Amino acid sequence: MAIPIDRLVRSSRRTVGLTVTRDGLLVVRAPRRISETEVMRLVATKGEWIRRTRERLRAKMDERPCHRYRDGETFPLLGEPVPLTIIEGEVPALEHDGAFRLTRAGVPRGRELFEAWYRRRAASVLGERADHWGPRLGVKPVRVLLSSARTKWGSCDARGVVRFSWRLVMAPPPVIDYLVVHELAHLIIRGHSRAFWECVAAHDPQHRAHRRWLADHGHALDL
Ligand SMILES: [Zn+2]
Repeated sequence: MAIPIDRLVRSSRRTVGLTVTRDGLLVVRAPRRISETEVMRLVATKGEWIRRTRERLRAKMDERPCHRYRDGETFPLLGEPVPLTIIEGEVPALEHDGAFRLTRAGVPRGRELFEAWYRRRAASVLGERADHWGPRLGVKPVRVLLSSARTKWGSCDARGVVRFSWRLVMAPPPVIDYLVVHELAHLIIRGHSRAFWECVAAHDPQHRAHRRWLADHGHALDL
């Protein structure tokens, strides 16, 4: 049975590549010279993989946090769940002193208040970790900035600007350090060559486990 392709992208690549997006769409990348019938035939042989991938993604989406900003909900910070208490009173709308305290008046703006809080914390934690690892790798990023990316945890551009998703501050410290080492290592070696991974491994011998952790749990790092 033919499997519907949601998007077919032609390029100068040599092989056919399949991806299932977060919303379950099937994207096929194929070389220009290969016929559509041939692409369809190849995709048909991958039916089982596509089905399993969609199932896994659906399970992950179901596990995504859906915060209502109610008493007793928890929010991850540095890998630990931090409980929320709703309090009476006016300012500040959101406080943190080991637990989160949100005023009842702040609840409708809960998401916005939490994101602003996490962004501030992420800027200080990631800045501090970049300052820690930079001299160890012998590099200094031009700037360390935050992004809102959900699945792209970090990036490094040609000018030497390093970006991290603010959501990363929700992850355990060793995972944060892995990503900082990863992006700083790109200031030395672009791309993901063997030499690049050797450089990462020299500073984070557990980097495989940390990548795996992000792949398995990254979807839960959200508001
Ligand atoms: Zn990379």
